[in-house]
Amino acid sequence: MEPSPSLPSAFGLTLDDWIAWAESHGQTRFRAKQIVQWLYEKRVRSWEEMTNLSQALREQLARSFSLARLPVVRLTGSADTTRKFLFRLHDGRLVETVKIPANVHFDGGRSDRVTLCVSSQVGCAYACQFCASGLAGFTRNLEVDEIVGQVLAAEEEAGDTVCNIVFMGMGEPLANLTRLTKAIEILNAPWGLNIGARHMTVSTSGLAPQIEKLALVPLQIRLAVSLHGATDEVRDRIMPVNKKYPLARLFESLETWRDHKKQKITFEYILIEGLNDHPDQAKFLAKRARAMEAKVNLIPYNTVEGFDWKRPSEARQEAFLAVLKKAGVTATLRREKGHDIDAACGQLRLQEETAAGIVSVAGKG
Ligand code: SAH
Repeated sequence: MEPSPSLPSAFGLTLDDWIAWAESHGQTRFRAKQIVQWLYEKRVRSWEEMTNLSQALREQLARSFSLARLPVVRLTGSADTTRKFLFRLHDGRLVETVKIPANVHFDGGRSDRVTLCVSSQVGCAYACQFCASGLAGFTRNLEVDEIVGQVLAAEEEAGDTVCNIVFMGMGEPLANLTRLTKAIEILNAPWGLNIGARHMTVSTSGLAPQIEKLALVPLQIRLAVSLHGATDEVRDRIMPVNKKYPLARLFESLETWRDHKKQKITFEYILIEGLNDHPDQAKFLAKRARAMEAKVNLIPYNTVEGFDWKRPSEARQEAFLAVLKKAGVTATLRREKGHDIDAACGQLRLQEETAAGIVSVAGKG
């Protein structure tokens, strides 16, 4: 009863899916509850271990679903710093996940819990002109189990519990909305990973119609909008998505979000020298943040090979922050030394030659 990776993963099903499966196999709903308990609470590695299920049922499950974890092909960082996981998917594609442990500054705040930065796609189609993930283009959406699997693997690697999830890894989560929503359901469920909806943040470049759809999902998840420009003129220069959904349309969708959710929206704003760091831009941003009662996270631009932008001086970053604060906006500025943690989120890109090397090394073993 060795798990076969060619079978569908057991980690892509909700409890309702398991109930439907159990009932269609002549079992009671109660079996479904037992199965998810083995999967998520006890974290067994084989169907054989599910000792309160009949032998026949265990064999049926083993023929139908895989319990395989996402294989880690590279792990960088140490236990008390940001760690980057590189996972190999069943089709050989690679995806990264970043674990930010306790007591590491994140988004300007102090975190005493493990935060995981999760990817939603292999590559990204949105081509933001500052983001590494878009450089190689889009390959495919991640499956539900590949999203859930990143969290399972990250927890199991060091035996810790993931308390916060930010969908700020590779990809545009809202372009993979159906799978994302199902993954969130599994991550949130008491029978699943039991991570509070308020501790999950979906970050988007601004897909207005999908923001409206996600607003209808009855979970108090958080929304972060990668704004990076407070005027269409600035946003058009760096984010092609703004041509499709300009700020007026984006803000219309944010109104819908606000009507449905109780949390404040966060605006992410990368500070880029000479592009969006003028104090006038801070004033425009303050106006937009106030209109939406949104928080602002300022992120000094992190150099990406392939783009010529620079991060503004610290003095200029502080001045920008001061304008926001003076206007009464709740705002933070990421101030980590070094680029280790900045490099974590939204900047996941696979250097092809490295990736190829890893695959061949792993292939030999
Ligand atoms: N597609 C989604 C999720 C990707 S995360 C989105 O756009 O929100 C995107 C975030 O990654 C940005 O908001 C920013 O916080 C971060 N990011 C991307 N490129 C960056 C860069 N060059 N420097 C600093 N932060 C960057």
